[in-house]
Amino acid sequence: MNIDKKLGFGLMRLPLTDADDNTKIDYDTVKGMADKFISEGFTYFDTAAPYHKSTSEIVFRECVAKRYPRSAYLLADKLSIFMIEKAEDIPGFFASQLERCGVDYFDYYLLHAMSKERLDKCEAFGAFDFVSKMKVEGKIKHVGFSFHDTPEALEEILTKHPEMEFVQLQINYMDWEAPDVESRRCYEICKKHNKPVIVMEPVKGGLLVNMPKEAEMLLKDREPSMSTASWAIRYAASLGNVFMVLSGMSDMGQMEDNISFMKDFKPLTENEKELVARVAEIIKSKEHVACTACRYCVDGCPMNIPIPDIFKLVNKVSMFGEAQLASAKASYENTTKEKGKASSCIACGQCEGQCPQHLTIIDYLREAAGMLEQ
Ligand code: SF4
Ligand code: SF4
Repeated sequence: MNIDKKLGFGLMRLPLTDADDNTKIDYDTVKGMADKFISEGFTYFDTAAPYHKSTSEIVFRECVAKRYPRSAYLLADKLSIFMIEKAEDIPGFFASQLERCGVDYFDYYLLHAMSKERLDKCEAFGAFDFVSKMKVEGKIKHVGFSFHDTPEALEEILTKHPEMEFVQLQINYMDWEAPDVESRRCYEICKKHNKPVIVMEPVKGGLLVNMPKEAEMLLKDREPSMSTASWAIRYAASLGNVFMVLSGMSDMGQMEDNISFMKDFKPLTENEKELVARVAEIIKSKEHVACTACRYCVDGCPMNIPIPDIFKLVNKVSMFGEAQLASAKASYENTTKEKGKASSCIACGQCEGQCPQHLTIIDYLREAAGMLEQ
């Protein structure tokens, strides 16, 4: 896993020629971005079947595989088990990915978005055996998995499957200690099992690019020419057990910015780490509902309201500003589609009796309904 440069080009937020159609990719811009990336000494590309509805893989083929020798790049793709209905479909899924990407092998291949639930499905479908077999056949160089679940689930996967060579984790300076992500504990478990880490979401889906003004001012005062993204990406890349940080770059400006500080990467100094910690505190201080996502309140709710998921969206708007309202509303629609809406609360009080934080859940849900259902 000794790769010279720690920045990976994530092909999941590619530039579009039609903002309303996520499969209409601007191939010319991606070609220019890939050329810049490779000419500056970077090699790692990350794609997956769900990105841009499989168009991401085709874009890779057209913009990179057809235009560069195989030795010029490293390619990561994923077994998206949630797209597969039966075990017999796995070989065909894999073969179609090689074809869409225009390659004979993947350098890195990940079981996609693993969790306790998906561990059970992957085992039932023989997915671990399949990727190991592909490795023996030379169609995969390194096998690993990306992960979204609790530290306990991660411990279980790594204990049961020591053949996994690396793990991809969501790490950024806001999620490091966040109770619903627990990046730090997950990172430490990987370290204990001697598994190098790839970081995804270093800028928390873009949230750490557009932060509250007073937090941004702290960073700008220290280094006026450095972008807010640079602090977040360098934070992730500074962790000793991290060998790659993915950035879902969407235009040439982002590509040039990322290259500027990752070409001759310098880890954050102790002083800089303190500054980032202060920025995280400022953002955190804007949190409106002090919900720790323990979920004790959820099971007994007669209206099946996903209380902590709703509070997370309220906090996203309070911490990162009104600009996040539209995306919070869209997430809210999704989150509550088959569950209760905030406005369906009948004020029975069951949840408040369970909450270790003694939150006035009923009042907060009323506010959430006003914010997210209008
Ligand atoms: S008060 Fe509302 S949110 Fe709480 S348990 Fe009752 S219906 Fe559910
Ligand atoms: S019990 Fe309280 S802290 Fe826990 S998830 Fe529910 S609202 Fe959040």
